[in-house]
Amino acid sequence: MYNKLEALIRRLRSAPRAEWLNKGSRKKDNEAILVSRKEIVDILTESKQIAYSKEYLLELQYLYRKMMIMLADGEYDAFECEICFGIYRENWAEGRCPYCLAEKTAAEEVRLKTREREEL
Ligand SMILES: [Zn+2]
Repeated sequence: MYNKLEALIRRLRSAPRAEWLNKGSRKKDNEAILVSRKEIVDILTESKQIAYSKEYLLELQYLYRKMMIMLADGEYDAFECEICFGIYRENWAEGRCPYCLAEKTAAEEVRLKTREREEL
């Protein structure tokens, strides 16, 4: 979806002007372009779903982190990460902070997936 939206943004940025929105200004931000109703409704429907998913996943991530901290807090081998302040047990990710590790891994996966699709 990310790459589909990126392609649409590129296409709309270079779409020819249909008319001026307001008379008197011939600046780029005063241009109107023609986009089909179906296309714009479809893309906004997908964008709405993405916004919902983002909110849901952020809430889920927050709750998982909170539960993991509750599980580790007070244990004899608990550590507090100096970077993200997450509390974890020594054996959870071979001594590394699982929260920072997950964040780094997720960012890399998304970067690879979006780059792979751009290259197709
Ligand atoms: Zn951390």
